[in-house]
Amino acid sequence: MSKLASRQIHLDFHTPVLPFELGKNFDKKQFQQTLLKAEVNSVTLTGRCHHGHIYYQTKLPAQHPQMKKDFLMEQVDACHEIGINAPIYLSVGWDAYAADHHPEWLERKPDGRMYGFEEYGQLKPGWKTLCFNTPYLDYLKEQIRDTIEHFGEKLDGLFFDIVWQDDCCCNDCIKKMSAQGYDPESESDRLAFAKETEQYLKKEIHRTIRNSAPDCPIFFNEGNILPSIRPNLEQYSHLEIESLPSGEWGYQHFPTVVRYAKNLGKEYLGMTGKFHKVWADFGSYKNQAALEYETFLALAHGAKCSIGDQMYPDGTLQEATYTLIGTVYDQVKELESYSLNSQAITEIAILHPGIVAASKEKVDLSLAGAVNMLNEAHYQFDIVDQWMDWTGYELLILPDKLVLTHELAELLEEYVEQGGKILASYHSGLIKGDQFIQSLGLIFTGEHETAPMYGYFDPVSFPKLPKGELVMHGKGTIVQSIDAAIKGEEAAPLVERKYQHYYSHFQAPVGEKTGNPVVTVNDQTMYYTFPIFEMYKTQGVKAYKELILAGIDHLLNIKKMITSDLPTSADVILNHQESQKRLILNLLHYIPERRALTLDTIEDKIPLYNQQIELDLCVIRNKTNLDHLIIKQVNQVKSNQTLPFEIVEDKVIFTVPEIDGYEVITMNYE
Ligand SMILES: [Zn+2]
Repeated sequence: MSKLASRQIHLDFHTPVLPFELGKNFDKKQFQQTLLKAEVNSVTLTGRCHHGHIYYQTKLPAQHPQMKKDFLMEQVDACHEIGINAPIYLSVGWDAYAADHHPEWLERKPDGRMYGFEEYGQLKPGWKTLCFNTPYLDYLKEQIRDTIEHFGEKLDGLFFDIVWQDDCCCNDCIKKMSAQGYDPESESDRLAFAKETEQYLKKEIHRTIRNSAPDCPIFFNEGNILPSIRPNLEQYSHLEIESLPSGEWGYQHFPTVVRYAKNLGKEYLGMTGKFHKVWADFGSYKNQAALEYETFLALAHGAKCSIGDQMYPDGTLQEATYTLIGTVYDQVKELESYSLNSQAITEIAILHPGIVAASKEKVDLSLAGAVNMLNEAHYQFDIVDQWMDWTGYELLILPDKLVLTHELAELLEEYVEQGGKILASYHSGLIKGDQFIQSLGLIFTGEHETAPMYGYFDPVSFPKLPKGELVMHGKGTIVQSIDAAIKGEEAAPLVERKYQHYYSHFQAPVGEKTGNPVVTVNDQTMYYTFPIFEMYKTQGVKAYKELILAGIDHLLNIKKMITSDLPTSADVILNHQESQKRLILNLLHYIPERRALTLDTIEDKIPLYNQQIELDLCVIRNKTNLDHLIIKQVNQVKSNQTLPFEIVEDKVIFTVPEIDGYEVITMNYE
């Protein structure tokens, strides 16, 4: 049973001191009509913002100084009157009011400077980050209790924002670190202590709420969902994937994070924004095609939708914004029943590199490379951690960085013993850095100190690669085979590029072979010596992808759930709606383009015509436990037409006459 609303607005309201009455033009009827017309069914309303102001009537001094009525209560009541859910947003880590009144509550870097957002500083605008090891935590908890008490039965949920702790060296943190046996001079100790503080903070907020609101939905936002969520997962009611592709997240973030988040056992939504750039880009409107893609991709991944906006200080919403949102949410409303309670059917899993080390990037580059390769090849895949069940996946990919603990190594060997296949690259598969898991059949002998090198690849194993050498733009490992077959050999450039001797603009042409392998194959495993997934993300060399796809073909015996003529720019996502006895094939064709120096956007949907698609029913049966899967009917939902299909060698084959941006194909079975 779904509890999470499907068409949400995340309505920011970060409002500083004003020269006029806050919310003076709020008109309940107009507010209600705007939301209803845009097909919105939930609005997350601001209770306490990054300026540290509170938007309901309270005795607490942080109440917004120009508010003369119970503004938030009016909004909540207006929503409830028309059946719209109204959870409340509370800022946690950024609070300008508290920062101004209690600078001693601010996080401090090791050199004493502050942490914060954008241009923050003593003479610059921007949020400064508060530390949760200071009395700020009590101040925050008092406001949470006050909010719960004020809204009582009307409280639909609490969304906490900026829920993280940095590597803080404020006086309180140093005192607590020393008392708990951490060394404040060690960066790794400080990071571990910060993580512990963050985990404690979530538990403490959860406990504070549960004392008086046992059923109130709770979400903690840190702008990302990573395996580090695990110790606190039970404190989350659901997951919200904040991901504005025109902001720091990019179009890489959502499709990566959702493939992990969907396996955490909670309902989840994808949150984008209506802004051209990012939050509070007032007076800007996202291109409709971009907003369609971002919300439709959420549907395709079984997520609910949320679109971010910010209310004006006079309490009004912009008409143009809600016309745009309505145009998109009209379509979401038509199609969301094909997403509700659907389960992805997947054949491959990528092991999340975040289980062994945090990434400095929003999306780890090796993970991003792996996601892109598989998505472009239309494989059906998940991203998993070690607490998820791997038995349903025939192949586990370990991109570049998975240096294993003994415990992880044992799990992987067990997976191989049970018939699982592993494809690993670079440092993945090494146990504590110097010894490989046995199933790779390799000895680690060292690492290259220079790049690039070249590779010659076996033409039978890698038929799509150019005949001849391929430059490998990355520093690889040096390995020796024990019992693995060598499918690619390494060669060095004629000369290493240095000031004493260099060759033309870039690397020198290929020289002698070094005798080192670059790709090896063992019974159920493959290994690539280079960080090939990160190399693909950073360099975009198609041959790097071909190297991996050929490896997957080998390990899966060329069995693939979906084959088609669709271009690599299409998204292809297969789901199962068991209650409806149907398979749902989601096809999307929108192409993000770099039309500005710093952001990607989408202006057009690019239609595709007469695309033939084949689904391997044998693979689907294995993944769904549908022992007697017989397809009865294939339908294209938007055009409401039945598509002719045939069954050939246990494959269902049909042609989609037109893919207009987003198409949903249903396959009813018995
Ligand atoms: Zn601190």
